[in-house]
Amino acid sequence: MAQIIDGKAVSAAVKAEVAEEAAKLKEEKGLKIGLAVVIVGNNPASRVYVNNKKKACEAVGFQSFEYALEESTTQEQLLDLVNVLNRDARVNGILVQLPLPKHIDEKAIINAISPDKDVDAFHPINVGKIMIGDYSFLPCTPAGVMRLIESTGTDITGKQCVVIGRSNIVGKPQAMLLLQKNGTVTICHSKTKNLKEVCLGADILVVAIGRANFVTGDMIKEGAVVIDVGMNRLENGKLCGDVEFESAEKKASFITPVPGGVGPMTIAMLMKNTLTAAKQQAGIE
Ligand code: NAP
Repeated sequence: MAQIIDGKAVSAAVKAEVAEEAAKLKEEKGLKIGLAVVIVGNNPASRVYVNNKKKACEAVGFQSFEYALEESTTQEQLLDLVNVLNRDARVNGILVQLPLPKHIDEKAIINAISPDKDVDAFHPINVGKIMIGDYSFLPCTPAGVMRLIESTGTDITGKQCVVIGRSNIVGKPQAMLLLQKNGTVTICHSKTKNLKEVCLGADILVVAIGRANFVTGDMIKEGAVVIDVGMNRLENGKLCGDVEFESAEKKASFITPVPGGVGPMTIAMLMKNTLTAAKQQAGIE
């Protein structure tokens, strides 16, 4: 039976580290750290994420600046706001909550955020830096996954790592981070043949596809570390992952639950990135 990886506890530890360092920087260098969060429209899930980010800022001692814009906001208006925030010295990190309404080109907005304030690490410059292993910010969810794997004491070196999903925000950067830790990495996607066989070879399996209970226990190698990034809302309103927990926990050595696994890590890593951004902008480290 697998040990359950407690994402809430690991995330609390990351936030405590960030809060401690932020308090020290404030006391010793007078540094005040600020994160701007921009939300456009009334997507209820986005609203929840934005509120959670605001709460996390308060918990670690950051200022948060929230910009809640109407659904009808034009791309030009949003670009103008991003440019103002790029120049605002109180703002160390800028996060534009995705998805944006359909009439706004997400790529144009991401590209407009100053790479120094891009705490989501979605800007092509930051994505490129991750490729060459010379980065300041890691995308929050894959970075959170790495921290969870680390919390199990698993040495990634030489391990067969399988990532299911190849999105720009989770799957691809996740694979790069595992590779940087010397894993032997396979990336799977919707066109992958023999997915079950590939999964059965995984010592570390990271699943990020967005399909409820897709990966079942018979696809998991005995003793594997299983990280479930998926967040799916069932008809009964319950949240569930991409991994069928009941059958998977019988095979895995460690497994993340949903909720309470990867989810809490994403915000904790966002706080860590904002701290890094503030230090860099102040010329510290
Ligand atoms: P995405 O952009 O929709 O990408 C899904 C990926 O899964 C694609 O690469 C797709 O392959 C692959 N896929 C879909 N069906 C598959 C199948 N039957 N077999 C193998 N691969 C399949 O999703 P995402 O943004 O990466 O998010 C993935 C999941 O993670 C979602 O549930 C999302 O809600 C969750 N998520 C959670 C957090 C968090 O903080 N916990 C953060 C981000 C995302 P193709 O490329 O071939 O289409």
